[in-house]
Amino acid sequence: MEKLYEGKAKILYPTEDPDVLLTIFKDDATAFNAQKKGQIQGKGAINCAISAALFRWLETLGIPTHYLDCPQNDQMLVKAVDIIPLEVVVRNIAAGSLCKQTGLKEGLVLGNPLVEFYLKDDALGDPLLTWERALLLGVTDEAGLQTLKDLALNINQHLQRFFAQCDITLVDFKLEFGGDRQGRIILADEISPDTCRLWDNTQTDPQARVLDKDRFRRDLGEIESAYQTVEKRVLSQIERLQSQIGAS
Ligand code: UDP
Repeated sequence: MEKLYEGKAKILYPTEDPDVLLTIFKDDATAFNAQKKGQIQGKGAINCAISAALFRWLETLGIPTHYLDCPQNDQMLVKAVDIIPLEVVVRNIAAGSLCKQTGLKEGLVLGNPLVEFYLKDDALGDPLLTWERALLLGVTDEAGLQTLKDLALNINQHLQRFFAQCDITLVDFKLEFGGDRQGRIILADEISPDTCRLWDNTQTDPQARVLDKDRFRRDLGEIESAYQTVEKRVLSQIERLQSQIGAS
């Protein structure tokens, strides 16, 4: 099958159904706008499993996503959408570029979650946009931006609670959205340790608690086991939620 698109972490293929695409999750890892490259053994299957579990669960809470099915452990069938070229970042705790650009101390708990829009454009280095610049570029209109912000905050509330039940703090994360054939804005891409900062509440050491791609970015080692820990805890929490539903 001919690839439709190959990104840094995933490859997209067409299927016989024009409304359905096949995503293959890769073990490749990149950071710092692809200046740092490597592999994380088993990452593709882990990120696929975590994303699928979270998408299915978010759907039950009324959040529309592109998820359809997982035919293999590193493959996801998704609804074809027109991706909105924005990275929507939600932050609960200061880390990463927020600290670098503002001087805020890593670990500062933000009074309210912060929603930021970045332009998806590798050549420009995915710049941070103001609301007005997003409108100026015409990536979406005012109502579209507001929908993205509302969805991102709603998803954050659900995910924060979910991860807390996994003994994990959701520090920040990146979402991508697309317009489906009915013109609805739906959640796309992935939710995984590649796209979230996740801190282990059972660890106090600031390096030991890191369960996400910062282990790769900062050469902290034990990357595979951190990703496996997230997968295990997320899937166990999903099972607990399912058994609660079954019991009620
Ligand atoms: N993020 C992402 N893809 C990107 C940029 C950021 O998934 O291209 C995620 C990142 O993993 C973190 C959050 O978005 O969970 C905020 O990232 P930040 O702006 O701090 O950038 P970083 O310092 O991680 O490059």
